[in-house]
Amino acid sequence: MKVKTRGFDKDKKKLLKKKRDALGPVRKRFCRFCADKLGSIDYKDIKRLGVFITEKGKINSSRFSGNCAKHQRIIRELINKARFLSLIPYVR
Ligand SMILES: [Zn+2]
Repeated sequence: MKVKTRGFDKDKKKLLKKKRDALGPVRKRFCRFCADKLGSIDYKDIKRLGVFITEKGKINSSRFSGNCAKHQRIIRELINKARFLSLIPYVR
């Protein structure tokens, strides 16, 4: 049996495509820790933590870094620990 709303769906698809084209190419965000399945991250691993810090020393948001909420929380705690132990500066 044919669905009557077929034409409408087509129009909707076209509209969505137009919207997407206007915004530019879409890059799918992914959590690099979920993707690589890295179980443990260390607060001593400054090189890897440094990716999630801006040049002024602030922590990048998950929106920027693409981390999931769980891993963003873990990274925030690790960075704060590393800061407390003066491995990473609070402010540059
Ligand atoms: Zn994750």
